[in-house]
Amino acid sequence: MATTPTATNATKKGHCPTCDGERTCEIHGSIYKAWDWEDKQYGHSVNGGVDHSLLECQGCETVFYETSSWNSEDTDHYYDAAGQEQYEHPREIQTYPKPEAKTKPVWFDAMQKADPQLRNILSQMYVAHDNQAHILTAIGLRTALDRATEVIGIDPAKTFDEKLNELRNGGWIGQTERDILGVVTDAGNAAAHRGWEPDSQEVSELLSSLEVFLHRAFIVGQKALGIKKSIPAKPERLLAVGKKTTP
Ligand SMILES: [Zn+2]
Repeated sequence: MATTPTATNATKKGHCPTCDGERTCEIHGSIYKAWDWEDKQYGHSVNGGVDHSLLECQGCETVFYETSSWNSEDTDHYYDAAGQEQYEHPREIQTYPKPEAKTKPVWFDAMQKADPQLRNILSQMYVAHDNQAHILTAIGLRTALDRATEVIGIDPAKTFDEKLNELRNGGWIGQTERDILGVVTDAGNAAAHRGWEPDSQEVSELLSSLEVFLHRAFIVGQKALGIKKSIPAKPERLLAVGKKTTP
């Protein structure tokens, strides 16, 4: 019996959660739902709609769900070729499940020993990061940096600038790292007080900087101290002999 010829199914681009990138996907089904909201007292109204689609990645065959929504309050204005002002509603696309969460560093669980509160802040920061909540991630990075300086023994009442200078003067970080962590601080401030939202690339860079610092301060540092303990002390006998030969 001949194999059934593959029908040309409808496809569209979608963010495959397994490939974690835009792929051509087969549309297995879709439905559009419109909605309307009205405030009777003031006569305000908002409307919009959501396209729901069940997609399959043509690369890895992962099946996932996508929503593409718009609403009448959100408009982008532009001028067409004739110079006429036009507008359109931008679409907000979401896919489920989310792409695999960013793997926490292998040493993450060891932070529990360094300081449970710092580990808790970092844990929540990773949840924000994995959900693309960039404002909350930036605030979390700054909070984690603040807590880390306190654990190291720096006075929490000091300003961030003073704390970073102390880290540098105490030999915890060099000038370059001091500057990078200064950016983490500024980014966290801007996110917390002015609602500034870094993009995903910026967030990744800020996160890497903090991870490098934490790894050195709490993991490598602790290990190095452990090695120091296992190095045998200078034998007493030699010291005693040394004393005897001194005139
Ligand atoms: Zn895929």
